[in-house]
Amino acid sequence: MMPQVNETARPLNPRVLRLNVGDITGAGPGYRQEASLDLPALQVSDDLVLAFLRGPFRLSRTREGVLLQGELLAGLRGECDRCLTPTLAELPLQMEELYSYPLASGVEFSIGEDGMLDLAPLLRAEVLIAGASGLLCRADCRGLCPRCGASLNERDCGCELDDVDPRLAALRQLLDEAATTQEPEQES
Ligand SMILES: [Zn+2]
Ligand SMILES: [Zn+2]
Repeated sequence: MMPQVNETARPLNPRVLRLNVGDITGAGPGYRQEASLDLPALQVSDDLVLAFLRGPFRLSRTREGVLLQGELLAGLRGECDRCLTPTLAELPLQMEELYSYPLASGVEFSIGEDGMLDLAPLLRAEVLIAGASGLLCRADCRGLCPRCGASLNERDCGCELDDVDPRLAALRQLLDEAATTQEPEQES
C-alpha cells in the first residue's frame, strides 16, 4: 500500500459548486455572464475530491435555460497508471451543458426553483471521463520494468527487455518445426 497523500486543509464543501444564477434566469435570452473558478482542495461528491479546480466559464441565457460553457482544469490525485507513483494529474475539462429552466421533465441538468445551478454532478461526470484512461505522472512516463519492477524513469535496471516472450518463443519453435517437416513438394 502506498501511503495516502495528506491534504493540509480540509477540502471545501461541495456547496461552493452551487451557483446562484437567479439574475441570469431573470434576464432575457442572449444575456450572458463570464466568470471563473479558482478553488483549492474540494469535495465534489462522496467519491471524488479534487486537489484544485480553476478556469473560466460562461453562463448564457437561452430560451431553454442556462447554457454553461467552461474550460476548467481539475487537479486529481492518484497513482500513475504506468509507474504507480503518487501523482497530481491536471485534467483539462471542456464543459458544455444546458441547464434547463424552468424545470422540465426528462432532462439531466436543471436549475432549481431557488435559482441555484449545481455544478457538482456535471463536474463529477466530466472528471470521471477525463480520468478514465488512467492518470500519468508525466506524458512520457516509462513505467515499470516488467521483469524486475524497477521504475524506468529513475534508472535503467539493465534487464534485457527485447527478449521474446517465452510463450511466443515456444510458438515460433513449433512453426519452425512445421516448416521443416512440410517442405513443399517439388513439381516433377
Ligand atoms: Zn509514471
Ligand atoms: Zn528490470
